[in-house]
Amino acid sequence: MIKQRQTRIVATLGPATDPPQVLMQLLQAGMNVARINFSHGVRADHERRIGDLRAAAAELGYDVAVLADLAGPKVRVRGFRDGPVMLVAGELFTIDAALGELDGDATQVGTDYPELADDVTSGDRLLLNDGLIQLRVLSAQDGAVRCEVEAGGLLSTHKGINKQGGGLSAPALTAKDRQDITTAAELEVDYLAVSFVRRALDIELARELLRGAGGHARIVAKIERTEAVAALESIVEAADAVMVARGDLAVEIGDAELPGVQKRIIAVSRELNRPCITATQMMESMIANPVPTRAEVLDVANAVIDGTDAVMLSAETATGAYPVRTVETVARICLGAERYPVTERSIERFASHFERTDEAIAMAAMYLTRHGELGAAVALTDSGHTALLLSRLLHQVPVFALTEHARTRRRMALLRGVTAISFDRGARPYERAAYDALDLLKERALISANMRVLITKGDRPGSGRTNTLLLLDVP
Ligand code: PGA
Ligand code: MN
Repeated sequence: MIKQRQTRIVATLGPATDPPQVLMQLLQAGMNVARINFSHGVRADHERRIGDLRAAAAELGYDVAVLADLAGPKVRVRGFRDGPVMLVAGELFTIDAALGELDGDATQVGTDYPELADDVTSGDRLLLNDGLIQLRVLSAQDGAVRCEVEAGGLLSTHKGINKQGGGLSAPALTAKDRQDITTAAELEVDYLAVSFVRRALDIELARELLRGAGGHARIVAKIERTEAVAALESIVEAADAVMVARGDLAVEIGDAELPGVQKRIIAVSRELNRPCITATQMMESMIANPVPTRAEVLDVANAVIDGTDAVMLSAETATGAYPVRTVETVARICLGAERYPVTERSIERFASHFERTDEAIAMAAMYLTRHGELGAAVALTDSGHTALLLSRLLHQVPVFALTEHARTRRRMALLRGVTAISFDRGARPYERAAYDALDLLKERALISANMRVLITKGDRPGSGRTNTLLLLDVP
């Protein structure tokens, strides 16, 4: 048996992944979740890409999840009359909401966020273009923010504005986001990522709007604001999954804080049984180069060792020169890093309280893995919840999640160590299900004879009914 990769790969679709053979190769290279970025493109693009993806996945027999990522209230500068301008340290530069789309020049530019002048005061630092350009606020009044350039650079149209330390008051869901939530519901995506979340309420509102539009997607909280780090536990609890959105996050909290905060976000997500995605610049140099830097190799590997469920690729696959090669490279690095144990936290749970029966079963499974060699865990599941719990608690043990529900299988594509398999147990006597499951896994060479395997199931089918744990030696 070949060791299977446990860490999942989220890859952003875009112009570079549009050729049909590229999409097919991305799936074969190991893309588990396809991200649709609502910051770019229109509904017709998203619809076409999701359609093509599902057709390719069906052809290969893969269960791949679609993650729709809302643009959120990214604050941006407007445009320039004569193209990009060079800001020079020591000179003055004004961001003025009264300026129109093409009024920008080397001394001033407009912004799409009229409240900017109300949200900053003299002494604040504004970061443009992901922190490449730094401005110090001198004064803010009547919609105009006068600044001194601290670190200069080339500024082009529609680059982002962040305030160091956080504190821009824009609400998490814009009018465009609300429209995009309806689109996401209609396109039946599996995950919906909410950008610039400030508090748990933002997640609840997004979920309410999505359900109102008939969507079933799970909600991903993107942690990219200073306020969200402060309210981390409650946001993770409100969400179904979490993203360490390092691009905006690093700009807001400062890059020196990023490593510690990444580790904390992953640890809290694991503790609260939420899958976690580590995102942004993981393979940045592969946008243009066929091999990653050593630093990128270590970055991906460290996220794996931190215990992330998935690593995410953005421009590397959406617009990069080597989308397939990047996914192959990430897959290889993850597999290598998985030889080192996850920074262990689940053992602390022996002391914690739990009420759900399926959680008790998963805890018992964890106890068993510490007292005997276990080859695999098999969850006969409807909602996927037991598979999620097992994947939080059993490190290095592959979890096979068997279900007849395609939606559950797609959703589980994000879970580290979980392989979803189509299995209709309704068609057979229920007692036989466990043994038939073993036969199926053996047929596919996922388990082998004499291996000790743990199986969880409910004594009746249905969501949240797992109450039985079997320990079987594969015949
Ligand atoms: P974005 O989110 O790519 O949508 O900005 C990720 C990040 O900020 O890191
Ligand atoms: Mn972001």
